[in-house]
Amino acid sequence: MKTKLKLKPLSEWGLDNLDRPFLISGPCSAETEAQVLETAHALASQNISVFRAGIWKPRTRPNTFEGVGSDGLKWLSRVKEETGLKVATEVANAKHVYEALKHNIDVLWIGARTTVNPFAVQEIADALKGVDIPVFVKNPINPDLELWIGALERFNKSGITKLAAIHRGFSSYGDSAFRNAPNWQIPIELKRRFPELLIINDPSHIGGKRSLIKELSQKAMDLDFDGLMIEVHPNPDDAWSDSSQQINPGQFEELIRGLKIRSKGETQQKHSRLSGLRKKIDYFDHELMEILEARMKVACEIGEFKRDNNMVVLQNNRWNEVIEQSITLGNAKGLSPDLISKIFKAIHQESINNQTDIINKAIE
Ligand code: PEP
Ligand code: MN
Repeated sequence: MKTKLKLKPLSEWGLDNLDRPFLISGPCSAETEAQVLETAHALASQNISVFRAGIWKPRTRPNTFEGVGSDGLKWLSRVKEETGLKVATEVANAKHVYEALKHNIDVLWIGARTTVNPFAVQEIADALKGVDIPVFVKNPINPDLELWIGALERFNKSGITKLAAIHRGFSSYGDSAFRNAPNWQIPIELKRRFPELLIINDPSHIGGKRSLIKELSQKAMDLDFDGLMIEVHPNPDDAWSDSSQQINPGQFEELIRGLKIRSKGETQQKHSRLSGLRKKIDYFDHELMEILEARMKVACEIGEFKRDNNMVVLQNNRWNEVIEQSITLGNAKGLSPDLISKIFKAIHQESINNQTDIINKAIE
């Protein structure tokens, strides 16, 4: 389903420091008034646009810190008074929205565990009718782009035009280098479908450990994300939530200073070398298409052979041979086993689908 979002440009959101990267930072959770104020003062001179602190924290497991609740709103008001920073907190139901609006919170974000639930999102969107506050919608915990878009649409239908998406990664089962797998193709596809939508990367929740934050932030910048949401705590190791992924204000400053912000290349786009290289890519894409077509025709002929000889479609030994042979060949050409196995699995799946159709058509 194709839809459009009605969005206001960032310059009309009433926020400051809009240079790329747009920065949202602050602790995972507001713990004490002193901790919130100390972090905010340390960040106030660092060109951030929005100070964040979670006061209602939906956690995966019970008996973990679930936030200080409404008391924290007064602390965020003090941050505004003392530093002039705009402040953001997470809301997960209508009551949170009313409380946050009563305390003049400037920006709201929707957590990943809320975006998954259309009823919860709708309840929040209804509570926001007529209030054009910026709303940042984190991706749902599962890699479902439509669910993410659905949440953005619900807010937009309620009249929210200052909308942004936050890419915080996706849950997966088993061990992984990341706390939440980035699946970069999902936010890239979101950007392709909604080019005007602001997309912020959250390397803290993707990485889950501070050693990964720099590399993830740089990658987000190179993929032309608009900004970053990064968790900052005065003493990260003592944080009451997400301690291993938070960095201190000094580390934050160093991180931002070290980022390479490359241009979108508008002037270089016209340059003949780049357009020459792109023509080459177009030529090879065309060649790939021809080869894929030819390969698929042969796969269909094999399907006819299997049909005529009453053979099953999947021949496991043959498939193992194809994948192993391709990985070895790819390796010799500097192509990663990951790429080769993804491409060949996709091609194989398509061949199997075609062969299954051929065999079953014979039965009909
Ligand atoms: C957070 O921002 O602290 C948080 C809990 O994030 P997420 O919803 O991405 O898990
Ligand atoms: Mn957190």
